Amino acid sequence: MHFYYKVDELYCENVPIRKIVEEFQTPIYIYSKAQVIENFNLLKESLRGHKILYALKANSNPEILKILKDLGAGADTVSAGEIYIALKSGFKPSDISFAGVGKYDEEIKFAIENDVFSLNVENEEEIYIIAKLAENLNKKVRLLIRINPDIDARTHPYISTGIKTSKFGINPDEAIDVFKKAGKMPWIEVIGIHTHIGSQITDVEPFIETAKFILRYIEKLEKEGIKISHIDFGGGIGVKYKNALKYEKLPLENDEDRELNLNEFSKEVLPLLESLGCEIMFEPGRFIIANAGILVGKVLYKKKNRDKNFIITDIAMTELIRPVLYGAYHQIVPVEIKSTEIETADIVGPVCETSDFIAKDRKINKVSRGDYLAVLTSGAYGFVASSNYNSRLRPAEILIDGENYYLIRSRETFSDLLSKTILAKK
Ligand SMILES: *Cc1c(COP(=O)(O)O)cnc(C)c1O
Repeated sequence: MHFYYKVDELYCENVPIRKIVEEFQTPIYIYSKAQVIENFNLLKESLRGHKILYALKANSNPEILKILKDLGAGADTVSAGEIYIALKSGFKPSDISFAGVGKYDEEIKFAIENDVFSLNVENEEEIYIIAKLAENLNKKVRLLIRINPDIDARTHPYISTGIKTSKFGINPDEAIDVFKKAGKMPWIEVIGIHTHIGSQITDVEPFIETAKFILRYIEKLEKEGIKISHIDFGGGIGVKYKNALKYEKLPLENDEDRELNLNEFSKEVLPLLESLGCEIMFEPGRFIIANAGILVGKVLYKKKNRDKNFIITDIAMTELIRPVLYGAYHQIVPVEIKSTEIETADIVGPVCETSDFIAKDRKINKVSRGDYLAVLTSGAYGFVASSNYNSRLRPAEILIDGENYYLIRSRETFSDLLSKTILAKK
């Protein structure tokens, strides 16, 4: 871990977090470059060099993207905006794939015009639209068909995408017909199949089931005379949120959660996929960036209502929506441990919603007004899902590299809040 305590003070690489917040204020996202590199290299090794397309939706700061591009990652995108950011960050079009359940015509056009490697399609109608746009643009388009294998990823229902009632992918039986129809279209080349069964998956079993499903399915396709060359296995590799950071003065968090065992994944999933002789791709987001980022805020007030303790901070659902959206758990630690006394409190933000909390009934070292708190494992699905609700300013982002640190996105200002509004009458 590149976030650690040195004499009760939280560091990222060689920089004390306190130094960053004193210079740039809070709330603020802080990322470790060394951690991003370590995560990527570990994954590359575990996946035995198969292609990694980083899922931009987890965190699309261009400076983070540049690190990953330089390490050899491609980009998995879900909107024309993400394709634009990937291209601007230096990814080659041939390293970009474009997925999404509801691509607009303009987005499809943008992807084709920019020669992205492939489009992952999720319904039959979409293929006709793509074929027509491809013909108009006089460009042949490579497609992967996303199959919904009806496998329960055993994660939170809002991030389970591979069960048959979810909006994602095409039913495997119906897809056979889609493969056949698409195979006859002159402007379309169907090169493979795509699955992505969910996110924050910590159990290897659903991945094994999916790989076995793909094996059987490709056999079925071959019987129908359909040959494919690419398998995109999606992302979803789960990480540890509880006890992400251990230190003797921190309370130990109960029911230690698991992270996906990458060794098991390599041993049990890869051979199944490799037996098919196709090119294999993965689309991890969270695994690469989650534990490489923290969100730091300040204690504004402490308050007691009846039997409940509240720690009111400047970190709200506008900065980190995961706790409210999926009941997600993030470890929260003081930037400086000033007390070994542990209290239990709801850690909340200033937004006018009861659902504006970061943690409920949390055991935490005693803190007081002005102390800084770090929300760990916030690098993925953190900043990217921030908002201006309550006219709050989106936070700044900092990248730490050894003893150096760089502002990689500045805090918004009041004028940003009105930069797009137009008065109808002057
Ligand atoms: C969200 C998403 C990913 C990345 O998921 P992680 O859990 O962050 O690895 C990959 N592929 C698709 C299609 C996605 O929607």
